[in-house]
Amino acid sequence: MRFALVDNVKVEPQPKLHGVCPHCGEVMISKCGRTKVWHWAHKSREVCDPWWENETVWHRNWKNKFPVDWQEISAFDDMTGERHIADVKTPDGFTIEFQHSPMRLEEMRAREAFYKNMIWIVDGLRNDLDVNYFNMGLSRKPINADGPQAHSFKWLGKSRIMHNWSEANSRVFFDFGDEFYTGKPMLWVLVGFEPKSKQGIVGVYPKDLLIENILNNKWCDIPSIV
Ligand SMILES: [Zn+2]
Repeated sequence: MRFALVDNVKVEPQPKLHGVCPHCGEVMISKCGRTKVWHWAHKSREVCDPWWENETVWHRNWKNKFPVDWQEISAFDDMTGERHIADVKTPDGFTIEFQHSPMRLEEMRAREAFYKNMIWIVDGLRNDLDVNYFNMGLSRKPINADGPQAHSFKWLGKSRIMHNWSEANSRVFFDFGDEFYTGKPMLWVLVGFEPKSKQGIVGVYPKDLLIENILNNKWCDIPSIV
């Protein structure tokens, strides 16, 4: 995790620092190595949230767009007795989950049911080839004449990224990197995907606008394409 409590203050890891997990109270040790992103680990066991995934630089860059007070917000699940930690949660209760790895459908359903008011932002660069296949299969012309742009696409890749995320009930934004498309950083909202024909529709949504809307508690405006 990015934060632990040291002297009751939420701090980032530094070498040889001990802290306390703000969510479960366990002792935490700073992990400041060369390969993984610097993070806090529970001393005695796995992360207290069974849904937690190891963080990448991609996670951290996204979290940094939002206030520290909104990051790693925990809540208790009365149904299962588990604790869950939202990557980012606004004071109004809107959750953003940044997902690097694929997950089972049951977990996706459980997380959506738990957070209710949420969106997924998916790391489209986890597999090297996905971005290239997405680019190859994307229609160059938008399918709509006006309003926010939507494009049709044919999924040419071997991975199940589109198939898996088409099962989500909450809105899914693919992050294929800031260099993709016109130069202005964009996210791709999954409007629909048909696994049999491998055809789908995505909307284009500026990354800046998404962040701005969330920061201004205007997340109910996101996105107006569909
Ligand atoms: Zn903990």
